[in-house]
Amino acid sequence: MSDQERDCQASASRDCPAAPGCPALERIPARAWVIGADFSIRRALPSRQRRMVGAWCFLDQAGPVSYGAGQGLHVGPHPHIGLQTFTWMIEGEILHRDSLGFEQIVRPGQVNLMTAGRGIVHAEDAATDAPGRLHAAQLWIALPDAERHREPAFAHYPTLPVLESGNFTVTVLAGTGFGQTAPVQTFSPLVGMDLACAGPARTRVALNPAFEHAVLVLSGALDVAGETLEPGTLLYLGQARSEIALRSQAAARLLLVGGEPFGEEILLWWNFVARSQEEMIGATADWNSGRRFGTVSGSPSPRLVAPELAGLNLGRRAR
Ligand code: MN
Repeated sequence: MSDQERDCQASASRDCPAAPGCPALERIPARAWVIGADFSIRRALPSRQRRMVGAWCFLDQAGPVSYGAGQGLHVGPHPHIGLQTFTWMIEGEILHRDSLGFEQIVRPGQVNLMTAGRGIVHAEDAATDAPGRLHAAQLWIALPDAERHREPAFAHYPTLPVLESGNFTVTVLAGTGFGQTAPVQTFSPLVGMDLACAGPARTRVALNPAFEHAVLVLSGALDVAGETLEPGTLLYLGQARSEIALRSQAAARLLLVGGEPFGEEILLWWNFVARSQEEMIGATADWNSGRRFGTVSGSPSPRLVAPELAGLNLGRRAR
């Protein structure tokens, strides 16, 4: 997906120094808005309070929503640099097309992972004009400096480790959880898990205490580490936790992300992760003038234009 906020704001990871080595319980409201007909989007990362959790630097929840004929998601061709896009489908289907020539539908229980590296373009469209449902999470993973100029790549993961624990169905999305390791290729130590239950459930999730973690409830309500949590709030857990307790009295779903605190300061603006304002200006100019990034064929959606660089005012931010 693409950052389509009207006022596209730059954010620097140094805005939110981590509290290393400490557990935390910080409730962070996700920003919500509507795109297209009636797609509700909730953005949990980045926010003023928190830019990253490990290398995870962007977290959008799309839906859950029912849409009519011809009203499905359409995000036209747009570029990325310096990150991986990680699309986790819960309901519905999205057709990914990219400038490497990949064309791949992602379905519930599956992940599409696009490694932008030095630059790629993709489009994400509803696979058909039929009415349908959509519920998905899209996350971005910042690439460390040593990997961020790598060749772009795309991978589809049709199956991921799934296990049961205390009436939760757990899918290991990235890294290792409950002793099982996802095949998803990442470039920083991190973890992602989806935990869903159809009724009352409780479990304890073992965590790597060297990681920082956060959870986002995607549907229903859960008790997380003693906090009651509903959709629309990211609960940042900090570091130094070896487990968290989860409890639900009814159907619910939760996304857990974590990782080693990212040791590099990044800049995030529009669909780019970089290290300097000059890189952002260069990438924006190259995209808007049709250089560098290549083209996507087949998408019915119009190519997106990078917003005005007025929002890119990183130089005056105090350390
Ligand atoms: Mn995108």
